[in-house]
Amino acid sequence: MNLSRLIHTGSGISFAMFLSIAISATGCATGTRGHETATDSVHHHGATGAAAGGHGHDAPSVSPEQALQKLVAGNARYVSGRLEHPDQTVARREEVAKSQHPFAIVLSCSDSRVPPEIVFDTGLGDLFVVRIAGNTADDAVIGSIEYAIEHLGATLVVVLGHERCGAVKATVDTASSTAPAPGHLAALLDPIRPAVKAVEGRSGDLLDNAVRENVARVVGQLKQSKPVLAERVAAGKLQVVGGRYDLDTGIVELK
Ligand SMILES: [Zn+2]
Repeated sequence: MNLSRLIHTGSGISFAMFLSIAISATGCATGTRGHETATDSVHHHGATGAAAGGHGHDAPSVSPEQALQKLVAGNARYVSGRLEHPDQTVARREEVAKSQHPFAIVLSCSDSRVPPEIVFDTGLGDLFVVRIAGNTADDAVIGSIEYAIEHLGATLVVVLGHERCGAVKATVDTASSTAPAPGHLAALLDPIRPAVKAVEGRSGDLLDNAVRENVARVVGQLKQSKPVLAERVAAGKLQVVGGRYDLDTGIVELK
């Protein structure tokens, strides 16, 4: 896999930074509850400790760093076209029918071109996905994330925005309008408006700046969300990172 393709100028994790995270994770006990080695947990997460109901106490350990490593590697496979389609066998289906221990939570846009399971080359039971147009976080979204953290043992949250997001574009296009958005769209667009306002006048592409700003704000919101997320972030047991998916290249830029 060509991880160097994930390097982006200006923002995003660098290859060197990613490597240092990955290397430190191999001997790291952060957030661990079980006994697997890092290598085992990367390849066989969810294969042990299958208590009914999937409570976190019995979940195999995947640190935030290991989870991030898996996502980066999966996206590299997707970008290169060398997909492995992991965890999509009948055996995997039967395994996760009993309990689930997704290694990451992804809050992504509903856009049909950005399915997290595909762009990270994952399978059944791997990702706990919450999707809403514009990838914003209301109480129901945060409650869903809290469930995956507390009961399923996930230690990484990725807020995934994307290039040319229609929800953000609609917010940009109506920024100066006093007319209410039609139907129920206001509920989607209003949470994005502060991000659009924050980047007005900033150099560069307004829509893309707003996409990035919206992701950064939702990441900040989740990190400060009490009591579940903020407490775990402070304790180093949970990481919340932002991502931008490039529709043209398939690359997810993480930071
Ligand atoms: Zn979108």
